[in-house]
Amino acid sequence: MAENTDALRVLKDFFGYGSFRPLQEEVISAALSGEDTLAVMPPAGGKSLCYEIPALILEGTALVLSPYADLVREQAEELQGRGIPAMALCGSSRKAERMEAFGKMAAGELRILFVSQKLLSDEIARLSGQKISLIAIEEAQCASALSPCFRRQYAALGAMRERFSGVPVMALSPAADRSTRADIAAQLRLRDPKVFTGSFALPNITLSVKAPLRKREKLSAILDLARRHQGGSGIIFCRAVKTAQSLTEDLRREGITAAAFYPALPADEKIKVADGFREGLTQVLCAAGGLGAELEKPDVRFAVHYTLPKSIEDFLTETGRAGRDGRPAESVLLYTAGDLMPLRQFAEGGERSDVSLARLERMREYAESQVCRHRAIRSYFGDFGEAEGRCGSCDICSSPEEQIDGTVIVQKALSALVRTKEQIGTETLTDILRGIPDADVLSHGYDRIKTFGAGRDLSEYDWRNYIAQMLQLGFMEADYSDGCRLRVTPLGREVLKGRKAELAKSRYREFRVTKRGWPETQAAACCAAPPRDDSALLGELLDLRLQIARMLQRPESAILKDSTIQELAREKPTDEEQFAGTEGVGEARAELLGGRFLQAIRPYARGGAGTDAKKDNGAAQEKKDGPDCSLEDIRRIYPNAYRPWTAREDALLWKYAKGGMTVPEIAEKLGRNEGSIRGRLDRFGRMHRDAEQGGEEDPA
Ligand SMILES: [Zn+2]
Repeated sequence: MAENTDALRVLKDFFGYGSFRPLQEEVISAALSGEDTLAVMPPAGGKSLCYEIPALILEGTALVLSPYADLVREQAEELQGRGIPAMALCGSSRKAERMEAFGKMAAGELRILFVSQKLLSDEIARLSGQKISLIAIEEAQCASALSPCFRRQYAALGAMRERFSGVPVMALSPAADRSTRADIAAQLRLRDPKVFTGSFALPNITLSVKAPLRKREKLSAILDLARRHQGGSGIIFCRAVKTAQSLTEDLRREGITAAAFYPALPADEKIKVADGFREGLTQVLCAAGGLGAELEKPDVRFAVHYTLPKSIEDFLTETGRAGRDGRPAESVLLYTAGDLMPLRQFAEGGERSDVSLARLERMREYAESQVCRHRAIRSYFGDFGEAEGRCGSCDICSSPEEQIDGTVIVQKALSALVRTKEQIGTETLTDILRGIPDADVLSHGYDRIKTFGAGRDLSEYDWRNYIAQMLQLGFMEADYSDGCRLRVTPLGREVLKGRKAELAKSRYREFRVTKRGWPETQAAACCAAPPRDDSALLGELLDLRLQIARMLQRPESAILKDSTIQELAREKPTDEEQFAGTEGVGEARAELLGGRFLQAIRPYARGGAGTDAKKDNGAAQEKKDGPDCSLEDIRRIYPNAYRPWTAREDALLWKYAKGGMTVPEIAEKLGRNEGSIRGRLDRFGRMHRDAEQGGEEDPA
């Protein structure tokens, strides 16, 4: 094609490259033939060339809209340095500067004009009188309310389409899943756009998650990276400015050159920090808030998330700062489940809170993944390629989980989904599979479909785990534009037709929830089959509450108070009326929670003859009545039960176990129950590799 020869020539003459990177050529040629385009290309995928090259071929001036004023000013200067007439204007640009730009446009002497949303709306009349060749919109996901970085001003861009009706529009985004892509096209009123989606593979980046809790452990994980990469640059993404500042101090104290960077930093300081980082004088940058182009550095060797990001989009955009030179780099997410609470509260307060919460949930699933992390990211963006085998560059693949033939499990879930006409989310799907007739299930008649109760053999936790895996493996996807409902993907349909599906065996992974360190017991419960007494029930109920809290995305105390849980473990109600009558429950909660809690309580209540639980429980112990089994009582029997494990205890546990002591002996030594010891040992076996790397998870 003639256009492509032109494009190739421009690429070589102005930018010095001999060939295009994936998708660039396709996007460019669509723009050159006047079509609207939507290109989703991962960070560092070479998006800007997609509009820079057509801008040099087409007649007139290309308008490039970007939310980052600093970033585009620098980009304009860089283009000028290559001999390309480019300018950047924003809302605060002086009048003289604006006049200069419009004058050059009228004279046909300006190829690219970067503008901010504010400037565009201020000057739309003057701009629409000019010869515009192309309109490129950077960070186009900001136009979609489904995106984590939605901006109200961007939503107004749709109106611009009429103003420049003959001009091709190119929407560019570094991260937008399938539903967001459709919404971007609708919001920007793109005309029959050609949609291009790049690959979200990050072949040179090793992904891992570590679960330390204390500040000191986070620091040691970062120091470990800084030392392993021997002077190679790293960025630590923090949520709060305060964290970035104090981490900078801590790193300096350890002899690492570090600097904090955040939006409120004075301009001259910003320049100093950015220069120091780019020149390699500062090894580690502790950043809070968005980073501009001034911090572009191709040879960043590691990116660390100090706390959980609020979405996979954010995670990917930030991780993409590392390894832009194509050489090996590392991404480490430091995660504790306690990170979730503030993020949930934040998401709840914002617009489209259902979508924000669903995205946060997917981020949590990534953090707690049992599936290859690269594959989980690709599936998230609808990049469902064949991906059998191990990627070789994530912590899950290098220390594989036990795999099971999950074909039947996947088929059950997908067929339930199909039978509801794909109208449900994870929660209802789990209820259907487990045969739980809650309000949502009954009101839609889902209790009458064939798969209702087909998955009773698995626990709720397992189902949620497997459904998360099915999303990560690309057997189903969530549609954020439509109530976060689940959809079967083409890959999923193949499994329904008999293609084999492997899953990682569901396994409780302990990511501490709070410093109080409540349940440490699910692993313990399944490994050790604890005695059926009140303390075991209490543990089970606490666990159940945790699961429900996560599921409903509410704080645990909002589900049921601690005192209520203790009361339930003591009183063991067996029907809904008794359950509702328990202090702190009430009818509304009973309706919501009754099924699940009663299911957990009944086996304990049945104890003896199955009549009055309280009295019949005496089969095992002669004196079991009275108001015992408070947490305090459990602690009296097992002084350390329900307390977080300390580093010292872990060290002792490991030492005792290696020395050949039995579980009961260790339990006695450490003052914990046997189930807890088994659970910890089991987990220790898996975490040992991490422990040796110094990124172990030690409770406060
Ligand atoms: Zn992997």
